[in-house]
Amino acid sequence: MTGTRAAVWATGAVAVAASAAVALQVKEYKSGIVWPEPKVVAPGKTDRDPPADAVVLFDGKDLSRWDKGENWEVKDGVATVRKSDITTKDAFGDCQLHLEFATPEKVEGKGQGRGNSGVFLMGKYEVQILDSVDNPTYFDGQAAAVYKQSPPMVNASRGPGEWQTYDIVFTAPRFAPDGKVAKPAYVTVVHNGVVVHNHFELLGGTFFDRPPAYEKHAERLPIRLQNHGNPVRFRNIWVREIAPIEGKKPQ
Ligand code: MG
Repeated sequence: MTGTRAAVWATGAVAVAASAAVALQVKEYKSGIVWPEPKVVAPGKTDRDPPADAVVLFDGKDLSRWDKGENWEVKDGVATVRKSDITTKDAFGDCQLHLEFATPEKVEGKGQGRGNSGVFLMGKYEVQILDSVDNPTYFDGQAAAVYKQSPPMVNASRGPGEWQTYDIVFTAPRFAPDGKVAKPAYVTVVHNGVVVHNHFELLGGTFFDRPPAYEKHAERLPIRLQNHGNPVRFRNIWVREIAPIEGKKPQ
C-alpha cells in the first residue's frame, strides 16, 4: 500500500465510524398528528382521462349536465359554442377542473374578437379562452389570463384549431357572516402542461366593466362556459371536488 492509498483508507474508515456514531444518536421525528389513511382514487388511463372520483361534465356524447346545453352544437365528440353561455347543473367549490378546447381553425376577427370564450369558476371568476397566437390584445385579457386581474406568467398557447388543455386548481373564497372576505379565492392554472398561474390570489369577481370585487356567495356554485360569439370547441371536461386531508393534532 502506498502512503497516499493508506491515507485515503484511513480517512474513509474514520468517516464510516463517525457516521455510525451519528446514526446511533439520531432520533426519528414524529409529528404526533394522527392522519386518516388517504382515500384510494384510481387515476385515469392517461392524465387526460378522468380519475375514478371525477364528475364527467362532457365526455363527447351530450351536454345533459349543463343548463342551456341544448343551445350548443354537439357533433363528433365535440361541443361547439353557439348562442348562449352554458352552466353546470351541479355546483362546485374547491375543485380540480380539466378541460380541452380549440379556438377556430379559420382565423377571424382580432384581439378580444378572435377565439374568445372563457371558463368561469363559480360562474364568477374567469380564466380567459382566446386565440393568443399572433393576436395582440391587453395582456390581462389574453389566453389563460385571470381576466383583468393577471396575465398568465407565460403564453403557452397552441395555434388556431389545435387542441389545448387547462388544468385548473381552484380554492373558493370564504366569507364571514357579515359578508366580508375571510379568505380570498386562489387559482393555479396549467395551460398545455405549462404552469401559468401559481396559487394566484383573486381580487374578486372578474368583470369587463368594473374593477374586481367580491360579493358574498354560496360555498358551491355552477361552472360556466362563455359564449362570446366565436365557435370555440370543447371536449373532455371533468371536475373533482377537493378538500385538504385533516389529521388530529396532538393536545
Ligand atoms: Mg372570455
